[in-house]
Amino acid sequence: MSRKPIIAGNWKMNKNHKNSVSFVEEVRGKIPSNDVVDAVIGAPALFLQAMKESAEGTELQLAAQNCYSENSGAFTGETSPEALSELGVDYVIIGHSERREYFHETDADINAKAKAIFANNMLPIICCGETLEQREAGETNDFVTGQVKAALEGLSNEQIEKLVIAYEPIWAIGTGKSSSAEDANETCGVVRSAIAEVATPEIAEKVRIQYGGSVKPGNIAEYMAQEHIDGALVGGASLEEDSFLALLEAVK
Ligand code: 13P
Repeated sequence: MSRKPIIAGNWKMNKNHKNSVSFVEEVRGKIPSNDVVDAVIGAPALFLQAMKESAEGTELQLAAQNCYSENSGAFTGETSPEALSELGVDYVIIGHSERREYFHETDADINAKAKAIFANNMLPIICCGETLEQREAGETNDFVTGQVKAALEGLSNEQIEKLVIAYEPIWAIGTGKSSSAEDANETCGVVRSAIAEVATPEIAEKVRIQYGGSVKPGNIAEYMAQEHIDGALVGGASLEEDSFLALLEAVK
């Protein structure tokens, strides 16, 4: 089963209007065809409209880093998935460990957001991953399986086969301490088994699973060589144009 690689940058709360647009201008014409790889930038919601306009006619796809589970209403400070969809946003990253930890998002919130994202014709990139304590206690597989099953609850098989899961061990995020490719592959295999249980083994074979956590141009090939790893969710190394393009070159 060949799955198209997907490299997604997660800029987190970085950049401003000017340098997010200049990033798009700089990578214009240098992004491999999306027949070969999906190239996605997850930018702060504030910059998505300008970036979308600037990305017109390029292969660059855009992601939001979060959204709410309702399209409108009295939800002060939240971002509407319907409004993101109207802007032409392709993906929404949900359930990032930073959102779970600092903003207390639950598995139920993430499941509701996934449904709202599909209802608005976008695709979720659903994050999961264990803490160092959980890894050391041998709890990784059960914990990640629980996160994945909860996130997918009530989704149809047609929806599940299109979504993306990002496995990001929390201890590897922004620390420079990446997981070994073999360990990452093993847990991505656990993610695939969890998807097979919720949907079917055939559907699970189609789902793209990313590894995330200190991925750089110099180590991405090791991850991409693994059976269950189909791309990467990249923080720090997606902020510079050259480094984002080098990640794409390494997988195409
Ligand atoms: P780093 O690539 O900076 O470790 O961040 C990973 C991450 O959290 C992507 O969502």
